[in-house]
Amino acid sequence: MHEFDLSSAVVTTVTKHAAGRQVQHVTLRIGRLRQVVLRTLEFYFAIVGKDTVCEGATLEIIDVPAVLRCNTCKNEWEIEIPAFICGTCGPGAVEVATGEEFMVESIEVEDEENAACTAPR
Ligand SMILES: [Zn+2]
Repeated sequence: MHEFDLSSAVVTTVTKHAAGRQVQHVTLRIGRLRQVVLRTLEFYFAIVGKDTVCEGATLEIIDVPAVLRCNTCKNEWEIEIPAFICGTCGPGAVEVATGEEFMVESIEVEDEENAACTAPR
């Protein structure tokens, strides 16, 4: 249900920003640590977005690499598999710098002229 919840959040956010205009394309910025599967997200987005301004809109994901930062020396490195150990200092306090993003980057809506035909829900 991970992608279902995320899809619901996307539809809610996009619907708010679309302000009644039909949405054609949505670009999302998603950190790799979220482990989101685009196809699964699209599947639920189509279900949740049905009968909303999001119906028929296409999804695009901008992948954000997972980057950790050492709290001691501020060293930053990209990871494929989470390994929370700094290559310079060894084990210690580190934090996730990027990789947990999940945000709507942009939306494309049809032009204002056509938007008059679309009833806001
Ligand atoms: Zn370090």
